[in-house]
Amino acid sequence: MSHYDIVVVGAGHAGTQTVFALTAGGFTGSIALIGDEISIPYERPPLTKGYLADSMLSDELAFRAEAWWAGSTVERHLGTAVVAVDADAHTVTTEDGGTISYGTLVWSAGGEARRLPTPGADLNGVHVVRKLSDAEHVKRLVATTRKAVVIGGGYIGLETAASLRKLGIEVTVVEALERLLQRVTGEDIAAYIKAKHEGEGVEFLLGTGVSEILGEDGHVTGVQLASGQVLPADLVIVGIGLIPNVRQLADAGAEIGNGVLVDKFCRTTLPDVYAIGDCASFESDWVPDDRLRLESVQNANDQAKAVANTLLGKPQPYDALPWFWSHQYDDRLQTAGVLTGYDSAVLRGDPATGKFSVVYMRGDTVAAVDAINNVKDYAQAKSLIGRTVAADDSRLADSAVPLKAFVTESQLA
Ligand SMILES: Cc1cc2nc3c(=O)[nH]c(=O)nc-3n(C[C@H](O)[C@H](O)[C@H](O)COP(=O)(O)OP(=O)(O)OC[C@H]3O[C@@H](n4cnc5c(N)ncnc54)[C@H](O)[C@@H]3O)c2cc1C
Repeated sequence: MSHYDIVVVGAGHAGTQTVFALTAGGFTGSIALIGDEISIPYERPPLTKGYLADSMLSDELAFRAEAWWAGSTVERHLGTAVVAVDADAHTVTTEDGGTISYGTLVWSAGGEARRLPTPGADLNGVHVVRKLSDAEHVKRLVATTRKAVVIGGGYIGLETAASLRKLGIEVTVVEALERLLQRVTGEDIAAYIKAKHEGEGVEFLLGTGVSEILGEDGHVTGVQLASGQVLPADLVIVGIGLIPNVRQLADAGAEIGNGVLVDKFCRTTLPDVYAIGDCASFESDWVPDDRLRLESVQNANDQAKAVANTLLGKPQPYDALPWFWSHQYDDRLQTAGVLTGYDSAVLRGDPATGKFSVVYMRGDTVAAVDAINNVKDYAQAKSLIGRTVAADDSRLADSAVPLKAFVTESQLA
């Protein structure tokens, strides 16, 4: 049985950045990075954007070139899934039956894309886009695709819809809720993004469930909606959320909620086991109910650095400001803060100009800012989140008044 001082499970954003931060910080112990994908660790955001729509190659997605890995002391175990954790023995078991022991375990296993529970969901041509292998499959299919149906009007579905349109494919987006991006943004942004897609030729069916995926000879031919309507399709993309990969920690006795529960230092309730990234539900001062599970590169990277610092003997509670971006067509959406539980939204600027932002308030406190093609507001908003703003809505709505003016006028909440 091999032993490492630190075993990192999951070679995605959070796991890989942990390894980079540890090595950059001069960690002298042994490190193993275990990941179930075979590819060299890579960035996920381009999978629905440049990688799908443009000629970007998979090599360009890698965080670091092979030469870096070859020159480092980090032992990679790729194409290797961890199936069990024994917290008392401080070991993990891999799917080939091997056992690896650890001093500290960093669990960064992300999540699995949620699959459709409907009949026909396993037909060829029905895909999620979570991993490089998923995007490779979709990329191979687009050459012969005329009509695509995207199920789910969240960021993954909408980014995919934009990329497929760019490739000249007819796209219909089906969303069960009455509006797009319901979980993650406000009405002004959702309406702008919908109009943008419609202008590019995407059709939307909102408030509509899917009852069956139809197929012939094992390949998808259409999507039957709960209403009975059938949408013909050669390709179906399912973007309906993520299930955190925490079963192994739950089996080992870790406390689980929406993800594995961690404290401000990303410690799970198991001894010497940390969890970070998409799978971790952490205590945060940025939301009223105190817990967050964020699916974002910022959170994965910053938690990775936080855990690495703790393991390097420089512990600091994790409370980075959450931020996020999405890219669709030529539009760039940037979000600072968290939209959970806001009371009101103030629109700054005119959506018709293609450049505006929305300030979300929780009482008198700025909870979050969404900015469309408005880097200035986004950059200035980063200092404003969490501050109490005395100004009335009309002043906040005046895009001629820079957000940094409110930073000066505000006091820390
Ligand atoms: C298509 C797409 C587009 C995105 N676009 C954006 C964006 O524009 N902006 C943004 O901020 N965020 C974006 N995200 C979200 C962002 O990529 C994630 O938040 C981030 O990757 C989370 O990092 P992670 O390390 O927690 O999980 P991941 O990066 O998913 O890494 C987890 C890794 O662990 C592996 N794993 C799982 N179980 C096991 C196991 N038992 N044993 C070994 N390995 C295991 C997984 O296969 C995976 O490789 C996007 C995500 C996707 C899928």
